[in-house]
Amino acid sequence: MNEQQQKELLDKLLVKQAATGLTPKDRMAIEPQDMMVQDAKDRSSNVKEVALGYSETQAQLEAMRCLQCKNAPCVSGCPVRIRIKDFVTEIALGNFDKALDIISENQLLPAVCGRVCPQEVQCQAECTVGKALKDPTKSVSIGRLERFVADRAMQLNKTKTPAIAKATNKKVAVLGSGPGGIVVAGECRRAGHSVTLFEALNKPGGVMVYGIPEFRLPKALVQKEIDTLRDMGVEIVCNFIAGRTRTINQLLEEDGFDAVFIGVGAGLPKFMQIEGESLIGVYSANEYLTRANLMRAYDFGKGADTPIAQSKKVAVLGGGNVAMDAARTALRLGAEDVYLVYRRSEIEMPARIEEVHHAREEGVEFHTLQNPTKILGDENGFVRAMQVQRFELGEPDASGRRRPIPIEGSEFELEVDTVIVAIGNGANPLIKQTTPEMQFNQWGNIKVDDNCKTSLDRVWAGGDIVLGAATVILAMGQARIAAASINEYLKGI
Ligand SMILES: Cc1cc2nc3c(=O)[nH]c(=O)nc-3n(C[C@H](O)[C@H](O)[C@H](O)COP(=O)(O)OP(=O)(O)OC[C@H]3O[C@@H](n4cnc5c(N)ncnc54)[C@H](O)[C@@H]3O)c2cc1C
Repeated sequence: MNEQQQKELLDKLLVKQAATGLTPKDRMAIEPQDMMVQDAKDRSSNVKEVALGYSETQAQLEAMRCLQCKNAPCVSGCPVRIRIKDFVTEIALGNFDKALDIISENQLLPAVCGRVCPQEVQCQAECTVGKALKDPTKSVSIGRLERFVADRAMQLNKTKTPAIAKATNKKVAVLGSGPGGIVVAGECRRAGHSVTLFEALNKPGGVMVYGIPEFRLPKALVQKEIDTLRDMGVEIVCNFIAGRTRTINQLLEEDGFDAVFIGVGAGLPKFMQIEGESLIGVYSANEYLTRANLMRAYDFGKGADTPIAQSKKVAVLGGGNVAMDAARTALRLGAEDVYLVYRRSEIEMPARIEEVHHAREEGVEFHTLQNPTKILGDENGFVRAMQVQRFELGEPDASGRRRPIPIEGSEFELEVDTVIVAIGNGANPLIKQTTPEMQFNQWGNIKVDDNCKTSLDRVWAGGDIVLGAATVILAMGQARIAAASINEYLKGI
């Protein structure tokens, strides 16, 4: 359907909506609206955003597909319980500002979450439309609608700096400036506390800045959120490594902070523990993406002094969002062939379906049911190939996914010059080493109670450092809980 046809359909539906209201049949007859995307061939050689968002007409049409279920099952799939039905209704009526107000009750980063939340396994998985059509890809596109209203508000300069309560003279230290830290800083500042956000790297924003690439999440959007925090009066201190620059005890006992929130993420990359991982040309996805995103290595000498290998044949190991991001970044950095090597099949891949689809469209070659057993080097210590074994799927394992079983004698050599390991991240041990009195679980994640309070007095934690590598929305959900608990505690002292 072209733009003109979309407009005509919308006009017709608006007339009916105003006169008699839309019937479920009318709503189900509206085709799901495809989001505009950059052409696959063009985009694999630029870093601009791939998905271009909905037009106003498309957003209204998509919102009209919502059946307005009384029990709104979509809300039960949303980790922060946004009033989805209500904001979608407002979009259908053309009340875009009201829609944003509803989202903003529970969600501080709608432009980010509209882009990166795994809606297909959360709110949209519960959508009655998708269930009725027996096709979850045809659920109402809640995430795209969220993105639409957030982007529109930014384009029209309609975003508001939240009001700040009267100064309380209480001081909160927030460690880590990812989505968890940003939410706690914002919520505690709103309550009138003085807030300092400490970040280890030279730029705030966490994984949203140094991990998720520009082509999926434009950095200007994250910067906007950081600017809002600054406008609110949050002090942001970069190049500050909690546990090294100052310990948590020092912050509390010597620097006058009344409460500390730890949101330092899961920044410790896991490796395969196979031969050859210390060869030149083997990267963790963290390092590769940080060089490319934060340190502008993609500039190849034009002003950026952080080099990155100009690879020809790249193998990315893993099947999650991080692996997709690394593979698609490698293409954009000029690699001729990019192989995504994953030991299960595509169905078991944890990456978002849209990312898998985009990666394939752009030319990433999927090597599923394969895993390297060794990385092979040349006489100068550079990667030259990987020894790869084939797998088949057995019975489901503890994760519910079918267990990959190696096929004896199936090894072969895959010629590559770069290997990017994207098989997961764990907790950095620095906080544990310097705060031994705090309780951690067996994986080194901080233990918290239902209020995200740690075992230490005046210390809260949330996000990936508690959950293990998880998602933006889960980090934000925990951060809201922690901030409410910190604000409550500070009221009483
Ligand atoms: C490449 C990649 C792609 C992803 N894609 C998605 C996606 O599509 N959708 C999704 O929902 N999630 C995705 N995730 C996961 C998501 O980004 C994280 O779950 C989320 O960012 C966690 O938020 P956080 O606030 O806990 O930590 P982070 O975002 O990791 O932020 C932690 C911050 O703390 C800083 N820090 C670390 N140690 C210290 C210290 N000692 N002192 C001070 N500061 C410190 C770090 O530098 C960082 O800035 C992705 C992750 C990666 C790596």
